[in-house]
Amino acid sequence: MKVLIKTWGCAASQSDSEIMAGLLARAGHELVKDETSADVIIANTCTVKHRVEIDELKEIEKLKQKGKKIIATGCLVQDKQHLNKLNGISYIGLNSEGEIAKYVDEVARGEVVQVFSDKKLDRAALPRIRKNPVVETIQILQGCMSNCTFCATKLAKGNTYSFSEARILAQAESAVRDGCKEIWLTSQDNGTYGIDRGTNIANLLGKICAIHGKFFVRNGMANPQWIKMFQKELIAAYKNEKVFKFLHIPVQSGSDRVLKDMRRGHSAKDFKKIVEAFREVFPKITIATDIICGFPSETEKDFEKTLKLIKETKPDMINISQFWPRPGTNAAEMKQLRGDVKKARSRQLTKLCDEITMEQNKKWIGWQGQALVDEKNDDGTFVARNASYKPILLKAEGLKLGDIRNVKIISAKEKYLIGIVQLLLE
Ligand code: SF4
Repeated sequence: MKVLIKTWGCAASQSDSEIMAGLLARAGHELVKDETSADVIIANTCTVKHRVEIDELKEIEKLKQKGKKIIATGCLVQDKQHLNKLNGISYIGLNSEGEIAKYVDEVARGEVVQVFSDKKLDRAALPRIRKNPVVETIQILQGCMSNCTFCATKLAKGNTYSFSEARILAQAESAVRDGCKEIWLTSQDNGTYGIDRGTNIANLLGKICAIHGKFFVRNGMANPQWIKMFQKELIAAYKNEKVFKFLHIPVQSGSDRVLKDMRRGHSAKDFKKIVEAFREVFPKITIATDIICGFPSETEKDFEKTLKLIKETKPDMINISQFWPRPGTNAAEMKQLRGDVKKARSRQLTKLCDEITMEQNKKWIGWQGQALVDEKNDDGTFVARNASYKPILLKAEGLKLGDIRNVKIISAKEKYLIGIVQLLLE
């Protein structure tokens, strides 16, 4: 069958699509890029942002109107409240994606398939087709150990189920053998890896780094609550030169009162102390964080605390989300802030964050060193990453993915650096 996979959402969702592509190819299906020739279209959905949810539901409806055979999967499907919106089409739950090839055959024959399974699927080491030949994304677990009051992902993915270490290592080894230069470890909360298996994320990083070959590991998002618990081990693991000096640690608010209402399990001070501890050992580390602006109980004073925390800690990357109530969550039951209040705060926060990330990026101007070319843009330019995982835009002839080049940073923008290639090293 000819199958088109449409993907929305986070790194885990992108990785699920790579796995489904691998499983489909292994079963003899053909992957296509256009709707017209596709016998079946897989809509791999996400519920992290309200805007994305609207977009994917609209797209599914459009395909349905065109008479296309669709299989919806991903987090949207897990949320029972959405199932009536998917009326009449086939859907499969996250844990059933391992049998996608069989369901494609059934849907192509005209059957309507609607399946769920409670048995969690260990996604490590399943076949996959990489979107980027030098980057291997490894999902290391499903779910998380928290119950944040704003989060719909938890409702879809449940408690942490860590995937087998042996399978994760096997996947990493085979990726390095295939020529991958970056291993991305991803999940809803990497900080919880192994807690259900008597190990932790620092041990896993150590074992991946022990794999022979020249590659980097990018540790994905980990919540402060768990980093705090394994901080010493994690800092030791980050000392390995194979680990990108990059820490994605979502703080969400600078007010302890709001953090409590969000049920985050950490304080603003916890975040500050972690950032200081990592910067003390790795002065050039990239600190990335996430902020939710306009949580229902956020007062003007709480918001000012967030601004203050950002000014004090100066993260290098800041993702801002304006709060939007997700159906089924506790925060959706709370009295909401007015839209204009949320918008005004979000504008003010964006302005501050742009100033701070620009200030941080300007410190890199004049830096010279090695960077790995890991992304090609549609306009023919490339992006390279140095050991701090800083994105460096390069416009040069003869570059290819996987090259390691000596670069010099000549200018900075809020979200990336601009560099020139100096010497061909490899
Ligand atoms: S840690 Fe919180 S925000 Fe993240 S997936 Fe779990 S419940 Fe959701």
